[in-house]
Amino acid sequence: MKNQRVDHLSMILKDLRGTVDEKVAAKLELDKCNRIIRRLSSFSSDCVVCNQHFLDLGEQIIELTDQSKARETHNYKQHRRLLGFISSHLMKQHKLVTNGFYLSVYTSIGLGLGVGLGQALLNNNTAIGISLGIGIGLAIGARLDVKAKKKGLIL
Ligand SMILES: [Zn+2]
Repeated sequence: MKNQRVDHLSMILKDLRGTVDEKVAAKLELDKCNRIIRRLSSFSSDCVVCNQHFLDLGEQIIELTDQSKARETHNYKQHRRLLGFISSHLMKQHKLVTNGFYLSVYTSIGLGLGVGLGQALLNNNTAIGISLGIGIGLAIGARLDVKAKKKGLIL
């Protein structure tokens, strides 16, 4: 039943992509939408919030098939707000991350530490400290991203 619903919604999204122009498709984040639908469906038997989101997003997608509605700005906004809301639930509750998440987090941590390191240990040479910090941050972040991908945790 649920799988049928997922397939049905995927098909609608595919149709939608075929009918709207690229700009609209990007605004509606159709690819992300498709991934989120699948995630929600897989969590929905154990998580009431996901189940509710699954229903809400499904309804919204069906509404978007009404062409005039898909083109209205406030509908984009509403749609994106819902996607953002759902993404944050998936990240917080189900430990999913966006692609490149760790890379950006660890690079900025590395940058911050690098400044301190440069000042404290390298005779105030913050430039070396920063490049060292960023280098380490990149290495750790990239590894964690690969790990998350292997575990299938990328949203
Ligand atoms: Zn959930």
